[in-house]
Amino acid sequence: MESARERHHLLTRVAPDLVRPVPFLIPLDATTRPALAALLAAGIHAGDLLRVAALTPGSALPRPRRIGTTEALALAPGLTTDGLRGAILYLDGQLEDDARLVVGLARTAAAHGADIVTRCAASDLTADCVQLTDLLTGQTLTARGMVVNATGVWAADHAPGLAMTASRGSHLVVRAASLGWPRAVVSTAVPGHFGRFVFAIPHADGLVHIGLTDEPAPGVDGIAPAVPDADETFLLETMSRAFARRLTPADVVGRYAGLRPLVSAAGGGTADISRRHLLLTPDGGPVTIAGGKLTTYRVMARDAVDAVARRLGSAAPSCTADLPLLGAAGAAMLRSVAAPPELVRRYGTLAPDVQALAALDPWLAAPVLPGRSTIAAELVYGVLAEGALTAEDLVERRTRLSLVDADRAVALAAAHRALDWAASTHGRLSAARPLARP
Ligand SMILES: Cc1cc2nc3c(=O)[nH]c(=O)nc-3n(C[C@H](O)[C@H](O)[C@H](O)COP(=O)(O)OP(=O)(O)OC[C@H]3O[C@@H](n4cnc5c(N)ncnc54)[C@H](O)[C@@H]3O)c2cc1C
Repeated sequence: MESARERHHLLTRVAPDLVRPVPFLIPLDATTRPALAALLAAGIHAGDLLRVAALTPGSALPRPRRIGTTEALALAPGLTTDGLRGAILYLDGQLEDDARLVVGLARTAAAHGADIVTRCAASDLTADCVQLTDLLTGQTLTARGMVVNATGVWAADHAPGLAMTASRGSHLVVRAASLGWPRAVVSTAVPGHFGRFVFAIPHADGLVHIGLTDEPAPGVDGIAPAVPDADETFLLETMSRAFARRLTPADVVGRYAGLRPLVSAAGGGTADISRRHLLLTPDGGPVTIAGGKLTTYRVMARDAVDAVARRLGSAAPSCTADLPLLGAAGAAMLRSVAAPPELVRRYGTLAPDVQALAALDPWLAAPVLPGRSTIAAELVYGVLAEGALTAEDLVERRTRLSLVDADRAVALAAAHRALDWAASTHGRLSAARPLARP
């Protein structure tokens, strides 16, 4: 219910430029027996009751329905026709890109007076003091103020008694052609795990992401977790059940994984651990916020800030449910933004700022890579307006140019050129609304 409410805020007010309805298909084929199909349909309709309870109108997120084979094949032409008797079609909110949401949040906070500092490590956290180390210069600083520990899988390092479980979520990237150019997310049930699915998720630029796993990953590098061969095999084999053409490792053009920070629970796999968040306010220690989901980030932030306010003796109510992020606007206003649609998809009403940069130099207006819609101006914008400090920041955390392994070297070279260009013009460009660095 909490996720449904937050999805409502994101879709209608907070970030409707970045969160949009996307169709999901559950094909009903030879691998889905009628009893299972009935159970799945009941589950999907129960999920739709949450949409109704969250007051999300059917115009924003249409009701689920059973569709026939012809419509299913129109949405996903590559599906296997072996025993295909239609599909369950439902809609959910899809985020354009989690990096764009995080950048939008950081810039909105900056617009309200926050100093946003990246590449800075916090240590020795207490309730009202923290050591900061600038990872680029090595300089250290003691900062005083109310401290919140929101460090994801590392949260337990700063909260005695808290136990976190890291759950690895692996994704593969394939060309849309490998799956017959799906126009909907295709969901395939994981054999033997009722309610668990693997998804083929169409993205921009003719790429499809296949994910995801949910495996305990103790001791794994949290910064850049690798995708093990076993995860790749599992994803390829599970997704191949839904399609006429069997996927092989040769179809995989890129792969990535992340670690879900879950509050530990006794027994069961990580898929069974609750996605609820936990707030800790120990005497003398920082406020800790841990667990949760990206969808519920706003509630987590609200609970943490409310706890800080209580420590300060204040009780100002949170206003973030009604606060659009920078760039946010409804569909009608977005259609009138004077910039190419691909830029509006990623930057909302701020797209003309990127377009203004593109007008300064022909190379800035050109796509960085053949077949991809990201233009070089987006890299410069990442430096000038979005706090990117390195080429990796630009290709991994402002754009997604590094998703395809074979593109990485060219993308990084373009990012270095953008960093040089931005350095030579910094301070002279009105398009920039930079993030602060103390
Ligand atoms: C593959 C995958 C798919 C997911 N899919 C979904 C989904 O579909 N829907 C959904 O709602 N959720 C999803 N999630 C879950 C969601 O991404 C996480 O719940 C969310 O990112 C947690 O946010 P967080 O800020 O608590 O932690 P994180 O995102 O892990 O952020 C913690 C930050 O703290 C920083 N940090 C750590 N230690 C320090 C330190 N000492 N000093 C300074 N900084 C530090 C880290 O660098 C990191 O940037 C998914 C997660 C994964 C991995």
